[in-house]
Amino acid sequence: MASSDTIFGRILRGEIPCQEVYADDLCLAFRDVNPQAPVHVLVIPREPIAQLGEATDAHQALLGHLLLVAAKVARLEGLESWRTVINSGAEAGQTVFHLHLHVIGGRPLAWPPG
Ligand code: ADP
Repeated sequence: MASSDTIFGRILRGEIPCQEVYADDLCLAFRDVNPQAPVHVLVIPREPIAQLGEATDAHQALLGHLLLVAAKVARLEGLESWRTVINSGAEAGQTVFHLHLHVIGGRPLAWPPG
Protein backbone atom coordinates (compact mmCIF):
# COMPACT_ATOMS: atom_id res chain seq x y z
CA MET A 1 0.00 0.00 0.00
CA ALA A 2 1.33 3.45 -0.86
CA SER A 3 1.83 5.32 2.38
CA SER A 4 -0.23 8.26 1.05
CA ASP A 5 -3.18 5.85 1.16
CA THR A 6 -2.88 5.17 4.89
CA ILE A 7 -5.11 6.59 7.58
CA PHE A 8 -2.35 9.12 8.32
CA GLY A 9 -2.43 10.27 4.69
CA ARG A 10 -6.15 10.84 5.13
CA ILE A 11 -5.51 12.84 8.32
CA LEU A 12 -2.92 14.98 6.49
CA ARG A 13 -5.41 15.66 3.69
CA GLY A 14 -8.05 16.67 6.25
CA GLU A 15 -10.33 13.80 5.25
CA ILE A 16 -10.59 12.53 8.81
CA PRO A 17 -10.16 14.54 12.01
CA CYS A 18 -7.35 14.45 14.52
CA GLN A 19 -6.53 16.17 17.79
CA GLU A 20 -3.68 18.37 16.61
CA VAL A 21 -0.88 19.23 19.02
CA TYR A 22 1.58 20.90 16.64
CA ALA A 23 1.93 21.48 12.91
CA ASP A 24 4.41 23.10 10.53
CA ASP A 25 5.35 22.93 6.85
CA LEU A 26 7.08 19.58 7.24
CA CYS A 27 5.08 17.63 9.79
CA LEU A 28 1.98 17.21 11.92
CA ALA A 29 1.68 16.03 15.53
CA PHE A 30 -1.62 14.72 16.91
CA ARG A 31 -2.92 12.60 19.78
CA ASP A 32 -2.92 8.82 19.35
CA VAL A 33 -6.49 7.50 19.20
CA ASN A 34 -5.52 4.57 21.45
CA PRO A 35 -3.15 6.16 23.98
CA GLN A 36 -0.70 3.92 25.82
CA ALA A 37 0.08 6.58 28.43
CA PRO A 38 -1.41 9.89 29.67
CA VAL A 39 0.49 11.60 26.86
CA HIS A 40 0.71 9.71 23.56
CA VAL A 41 1.30 11.90 20.51
CA LEU A 42 2.28 10.87 16.98
CA VAL A 43 4.62 13.02 14.89
CA ILE A 44 4.37 12.36 11.15
CA PRO A 45 6.08 13.92 8.14
CA ARG A 46 3.84 15.39 5.47
CA GLU A 47 5.95 13.46 2.95
CA PRO A 48 4.60 9.90 2.82
CA ILE A 49 7.65 7.80 3.76
CA ALA A 50 6.29 4.31 4.51
CA GLN A 51 8.76 3.42 7.26
CA LEU A 52 12.09 4.53 8.69
CA GLY A 53 13.84 1.65 6.92
CA GLU A 54 12.88 3.23 3.58
CA ALA A 55 14.25 6.70 4.38
CA THR A 56 17.24 7.83 2.33
CA ASP A 57 20.07 10.34 2.67
CA ALA A 58 17.72 12.87 1.09
CA HIS A 59 15.59 12.68 4.24
CA GLN A 60 18.40 13.57 6.66
CA ALA A 61 17.17 17.07 7.48
CA LEU A 62 13.55 15.94 7.69
CA LEU A 63 14.40 13.12 10.11
CA GLY A 64 16.33 15.54 12.32
CA HIS A 65 13.38 17.91 12.23
CA LEU A 66 11.00 15.15 13.35
CA LEU A 67 13.18 14.44 16.39
CA LEU A 68 13.27 18.12 17.32
CA VAL A 69 9.49 18.30 16.95
CA ALA A 70 9.15 15.26 19.23
CA ALA A 71 11.14 17.19 21.86
CA LYS A 72 9.01 20.27 21.25
CA VAL A 73 5.83 18.23 21.73
CA ALA A 74 7.20 16.83 25.01
CA ARG A 75 7.86 20.41 26.17
CA LEU A 76 4.40 21.56 25.07
CA GLU A 77 2.88 18.65 27.03
CA GLY A 78 4.92 19.52 30.12
CA LEU A 79 6.88 16.27 30.14
CA GLU A 80 10.28 16.10 31.83
CA SER A 81 10.82 12.40 31.04
CA TRP A 82 9.39 10.78 27.98
CA ARG A 83 10.13 8.25 25.26
CA THR A 84 10.04 8.37 21.49
CA VAL A 85 9.52 5.13 19.59
CA ILE A 86 9.65 4.38 15.88
CA ASN A 87 8.39 0.95 14.83
CA SER A 88 9.83 0.10 11.41
CA GLY A 89 8.22 -2.95 9.82
CA ALA A 90 5.37 -5.30 10.70
CA GLU A 91 7.38 -7.56 13.04
CA ALA A 92 8.38 -4.50 15.04
CA GLY A 93 4.70 -3.74 15.54
CA GLN A 94 4.21 -1.16 12.80
CA THR A 95 0.59 -1.17 11.65
CA VAL A 96 0.31 2.16 9.84
CA PHE A 97 2.80 2.40 6.98
CA HIS A 98 3.39 6.13 7.08
CA LEU A 99 6.49 6.93 9.14
CA HIS A 100 5.56 8.16 12.62
CA LEU A 101 7.29 8.87 15.91
CA HIS A 102 5.39 7.98 19.06
CA VAL A 103 5.94 10.48 21.91
CA ILE A 104 4.90 8.75 25.12
CA GLY A 105 5.01 10.02 28.69
CA GLY A 106 3.15 10.99 31.82
CA ARG A 107 3.76 7.71 33.65
CA PRO A 108 6.82 5.59 34.55
CA LEU A 109 7.97 3.67 31.47
CA ALA A 110 9.45 0.18 31.74
CA TRP A 111 12.41 -1.11 29.75
CA PRO A 112 12.89 -3.24 27.67
CA PRO A 113 9.73 -2.87 25.58
CA GLY A 114 7.90 -6.01 24.45
P1 ADP B 1 0.86 0.02 16.64
O1 ADP B 1 -0.48 0.08 16.01
O2 ADP B 1 1.29 -1.39 17.00
O3 ADP B 1 1.11 1.00 17.75
P2 ADP B 1 2.34 1.73 14.87
O4 ADP B 1 3.72 2.05 15.37
O5 ADP B 1 2.17 1.60 13.38
O6 ADP B 1 1.86 0.41 15.49
O7 ADP B 1 1.38 2.86 15.44
C1 ADP B 1 0.21 3.27 14.82
C2 ADP B 1 -0.52 4.12 15.84
O8 ADP B 1 -1.51 4.87 15.18
C3 ADP B 1 -1.23 3.33 16.93
O9 ADP B 1 -0.73 3.74 18.19
C4 ADP B 1 -2.70 3.68 16.73
O10 ADP B 1 -3.40 3.77 17.95
C5 ADP B 1 -2.60 5.02 16.04
N1 ADP B 1 -3.73 5.39 15.22
C6 ADP B 1 -4.37 4.66 14.29
N2 ADP B 1 -5.36 5.35 13.72
C7 ADP B 1 -5.35 6.59 14.29
C8 ADP B 1 -6.12 7.77 14.12
N3 ADP B 1 -7.12 7.83 13.24
N4 ADP B 1 -5.83 8.84 14.88
C9 ADP B 1 -4.84 8.79 15.78
N5 ADP B 1 -4.05 7.71 15.97
C10 ADP B 1 -4.31 6.61 15.25
